[in-house]
Amino acid sequence: MKTKLGLLYGGKSAEHQVSLQTALAVMKALDLEKFEIHPIYINVEGRWIKGPQLMEPAETVKELAYSADSQVPAALSPALFQSENQENAELDVIFPLLHGPNGEDGTVQGLLEILNLPYVGNGVLASAAGMDKVVMKNIFAQAGLGQVNYVSFIKSEWTGAKEEAYEQVEKELGYPCFVKPANLGSSVGISKCRNRAELDTAFSEAFQFDRKVIIEEGVTAREIEIAVLGNDAPECSVAGEIVPKKDFYDYKAKYEDGETALIIPAEIPEDVYAVMKDMAIRAFKSLDCSGLVRADFFLTQDGKVLINEVNTMPGFTPFSMFPLLWKHTGVEYPQLIERLVDLAKERHAEKQ
Ligand code: ADP
Ligand code: MG
Ligand code: MG
Repeated sequence: MKTKLGLLYGGKSAEHQVSLQTALAVMKALDLEKFEIHPIYINVEGRWIKGPQLMEPAETVKELAYSADSQVPAALSPALFQSENQENAELDVIFPLLHGPNGEDGTVQGLLEILNLPYVGNGVLASAAGMDKVVMKNIFAQAGLGQVNYVSFIKSEWTGAKEEAYEQVEKELGYPCFVKPANLGSSVGISKCRNRAELDTAFSEAFQFDRKVIIEEGVTAREIEIAVLGNDAPECSVAGEIVPKKDFYDYKAKYEDGETALIIPAEIPEDVYAVMKDMAIRAFKSLDCSGLVRADFFLTQDGKVLINEVNTMPGFTPFSMFPLLWKHTGVEYPQLIERLVDLAKERHAEKQ
């Protein structure tokens, strides 16, 4: 029997376009002998759209973002997940191909939990904790994972006492430092600061995206990433290195330039790779992850390994780091998707 797979894509986030590309790639990669595809599109306003129109095989990203007349209200009803062209066709698994807030942060995962539907990837807790850089780093600290020093402020703390906030940053972290909205991804709202004036601008910028910011000590380091796959017994891929041609790996470098080089496998010593694998698994377990994460590290000039973050729904086009890492580890893109669907079913079955 075919698996009825609901692909949830688009979304009300800065990563909308990336999600469309991912959805198209996943649809094309799926073996139609094994899967029946049910696209569910979330437009930029956050409306959920499904229906026969979306069932036409899409050839372009544009076709995926189907026109407004097929809109359905964002009713949080199980009916939303039932196929219209089939009697009583409840979906078997949902694959949320969404990044950032309202997709990767536990909210959609919570909805799917309530609907009792199996879904690919991390659950509510891991998704929410992984989205908030402060919570994530606090948990990593608890797990004894090496990372950069950091401080955080909520907006009201900063508004009332900017000077004090900046003094604390300078005293505890110094320059350069990185100011980031606590709950985002794709480098949105992130600035590197070299002095007080830049710090002031960076705070204002980051607070446009979130009521909480994190400030981190800036390190000069190589950026190495490992893909993790599994539930209770997660496995690691080979490591990959990101070489941004810019000052840091900002939004443009990620999605617009094509300037960033991905080196797979990363040229790192075997013992460094072993440390990273161990840390990736400990990070995965510390947040109670399931399905997948991409664990991102800094390798400093003096050879120290620091965890930067995990991404609970990493970029997933065939040209993104996560699938490429698995390809080099021996798992091709279509297989990877099947593996994730199986892991989703397995985790769901355990909960019943
Ligand atoms: P996102 O979740 O948006 O990817 P990151 O924390 O990974 O945010 O930061 C984006 C990029 O900024 C990193 O890939 C790296 O290039 C740079 N960066 C972030 N934090 C630091 C830091 N503490 N020191 C040096 N570079 C950093
Ligand atoms: Mg991230
Ligand atoms: Mg990152």
